[in-house]
Amino acid sequence: MPEIPKAYEPGEVEQKWYRFWMEQGYFTPKIDQKKQPFVIIMPPPNVTGELHLGHGLTATVEDVMTRWHRMKGEPTLWLPGVDHAGIATQVVVEQKLAKEGTDRHVLGREKFIDRVWEWVSQSRQAITYQHQRLGASCDWTRERFTLDDGPVLAVRTAFVRLYDKGLIYHGERIINWCPRCQTALSDLEVQHKDVTGNLYYLRYPLADGDGFVTVATTRPETYLGDTAVAVNPEDGRFKGLTGKKVILPVIGRVIPVITDSAVDPTFGTGAVKITPAHDPVDFEISERQGLALVNILNPDATMNEEAGPYAGLDRFACREKVIADFEKAGLLEKIEPHSHSVGHCDRCQTMIEPEASQQWFVRVAPLVAAAIKAVDEGRITIIPERFTRVYVNWMENIRDWCISRQLWWGHRIPVWYCSKCDELTVSTDQPLACSHCGSNDIQQDPDVLDTWFSSALWPHSTLGWPEDTDDLKYFYPTSVMETGYDILFFWVARMIMMGLEDTGDIPFRTVYLHGLVRDERGDKMSKMRGNVLSPTDAIDEYGTDALRFAVTTGTSPGNDVNLGRHRLEAGRNFANKLWNSARFVFGSLEATPMEGQALARLTAEHPEALEDRWILSRLSRLATSVDRLMCDYQFGEAERQIHDFFWGEFCDWYIEMAKVRLSQGTLLPLPVLAHVLETTLRLLHPFMPFITEELWQGLKQRLPERSLEPDSIMIAPYPVADEKAVDPEAERVMDSVIEIIRCIRNARAEHKVPPTRWIEARIYADDLCSAIATQSVAIEILAKARPLAVLGRNQREAKGEKALVLVLKEAEVVLPWAGMVDVAAERQRLEREISANKAEIARLEERLKDSAFVSKAPAAVVEKERGKLQSCKDKLMRLKQELAQLN
Ligand SMILES: [Zn+2]
Ligand SMILES: [Zn+2]
Repeated sequence: MPEIPKAYEPGEVEQKWYRFWMEQGYFTPKIDQKKQPFVIIMPPPNVTGELHLGHGLTATVEDVMTRWHRMKGEPTLWLPGVDHAGIATQVVVEQKLAKEGTDRHVLGREKFIDRVWEWVSQSRQAITYQHQRLGASCDWTRERFTLDDGPVLAVRTAFVRLYDKGLIYHGERIINWCPRCQTALSDLEVQHKDVTGNLYYLRYPLADGDGFVTVATTRPETYLGDTAVAVNPEDGRFKGLTGKKVILPVIGRVIPVITDSAVDPTFGTGAVKITPAHDPVDFEISERQGLALVNILNPDATMNEEAGPYAGLDRFACREKVIADFEKAGLLEKIEPHSHSVGHCDRCQTMIEPEASQQWFVRVAPLVAAAIKAVDEGRITIIPERFTRVYVNWMENIRDWCISRQLWWGHRIPVWYCSKCDELTVSTDQPLACSHCGSNDIQQDPDVLDTWFSSALWPHSTLGWPEDTDDLKYFYPTSVMETGYDILFFWVARMIMMGLEDTGDIPFRTVYLHGLVRDERGDKMSKMRGNVLSPTDAIDEYGTDALRFAVTTGTSPGNDVNLGRHRLEAGRNFANKLWNSARFVFGSLEATPMEGQALARLTAEHPEALEDRWILSRLSRLATSVDRLMCDYQFGEAERQIHDFFWGEFCDWYIEMAKVRLSQGTLLPLPVLAHVLETTLRLLHPFMPFITEELWQGLKQRLPERSLEPDSIMIAPYPVADEKAVDPEAERVMDSVIEIIRCIRNARAEHKVPPTRWIEARIYADDLCSAIATQSVAIEILAKARPLAVLGRNQREAKGEKALVLVLKEAEVVLPWAGMVDVAAERQRLEREISANKAEIARLEERLKDSAFVSKAPAAVVEKERGKLQSCKDKLMRLKQELAQLN
């Protein structure tokens, strides 16, 4: 039999078992029409690089669910994938090109895309490797990339269908423009930051020469795009002004003063400039009022020819110049500091410009109703429940979704323009000619789709839609969508809309939202703060199981996890505890091999010994509780309870007592040791897959043949509670025995009894007396108490001896001082402590009587002194009691 190493070495063990699981094909489910499958589609990580701890948490939680359902015997599919991450990936490759002194325009579209693919193939391998190191039991034979042929066909099909239904349109709308990335962004790709800027009060001269209208703005350069000044129709201050005209300084454009009820009379002066091409509210006003749009920016945020003398200037330089010119002309009324929220590009942090632009949009209103209904009717459950309200709220206020991006990397928009008849051809396949006039002179739209468009189809596109594949029929709708609460809108809401639209069915039954991983102080992890912990580094240092333990134990859905080294250390300590206790069990089995039927008999006929009955009862309760928690998605709590049972009951008590029995030559604990270890390993396997497999295999080798059937713990059945094993009587007695041992140990520690010294103890109990007496050998050895007597309370007699008396719930423990401590020395020690304590009390009282101190010192300091006094007094009382017991 191969000897088990003294210490757990995660590295080798992890590689060995992952390879074995892959070779056995355990990750690939068998379609069984008689069974309901369990399905998770992995949220595809961006191909842009290394996984962070958030991915570590995602992968662990999904693997926990997957392994648990697989062990419950359900056909289980966890489908992995990677996202092409349009803008993020393009930015990364552009930065690489910039370092080489070139850019994508020099390269041209085709060569640039080749470069991206080259980079993507390396990055994908790294992501797959990292997932495998995390122990992810996903079906790699079904792995998908968002730009694979299948998902590409799905994207084009979805686009064409929406277009044919009039739910995709091309139009001019205000979009968020990133001047660095030079693309439109959706609202969700914009980060709003509070910025301290200024509010500039600009005077526009009236065309009739009769004074000015003053407007306030944070972006004075946009006056170049103004096409009206507006006031609220209810605002009495501007009676007589409406219908007049004003002249824009420097450029001389004449624009009208109009009324519109959207104007907020409390902002600035109450008269506002209207810049329809660069402000979403102004754009809506312009649509109502039929105002012209004047776009003043080039794509790189320099001023275009509409800016007249300012053309060519950068937007910020232009702002300076405009202010200087207004000031020179006496048209700058004042400048006030003003803090407001400004949008920044989520990818490159450049300040975005709202801009009117021709883009493709999804008309979402018709898709929303079904998506809200699915959640309202409970066909989709969101966990934790509080996010349901957030989801519905967001859906009710959703705006049309801008899906075109001026990028090269991504799903190209399947629209072709005809230069002959100006009509569009919208098609899933590359058309050879215009579908309207047959001309060959057609050009594909240069833009690509928002990455989230393909992500929105992920649950059905990965399973083969639009083809009616076996996978789609069997695995769709999926069971759980597990993801961070931060992308509920980005992604989850859109999957629900598109899933329902494309397939007529919900994409998943449950949405499980996990929290974010933060550092141990609760700060967000970021490269800038330097507090990032990479999952692979953590695995190298602590092992995969320790990392998985650290990110999940004690956590609950939707709540953030604070992860520091101490949690990783706790994970590693637990792995070592498992290892060492298993080594003890293995050693015992090797010393006395167990007979063939011992394990089977154990479950059939219940053992008689109290501690055996107790641990089996506790194990049964644990299995019940874990099952309930797992069904409630409380994985962190389930794991905590398994940990506490294993460490606090099995190792600390059962194994210690078993050692006593084994040393006396009884072999009764062997089957129980093997059974409890084996069951706990199975309970724990979804959380800590590697060490549990290693130990389970080790146990299997040391048990009689066919004691443990399957070839791997990961396909062994998940434990179910043996209800017949629940034994309240055994639990009551053992609780009492544990309490007795604990309090004798505490008394020894408190009175500094050397660990090797035996002390006398007498235990008095009522109805538990004889039951406790069965454990006297264990109590003797574990509490180092000899001679030990267990007696009925009625046998208690006043002996007149000096002793320490401990009153417990079900028993009383009497420890005679003689033999335990040197009474004279102990008395001296206590007297010394009492007088030192009295001196300290006197000093503190003196200080607190000093009115100068009490009135001048900070309240907190005085309070602290009062606290000290109180604890000194408490201690004095205890010392006096101890002395009294001694006398
Ligand atoms: Zn950007
Ligand atoms: Zn045509």
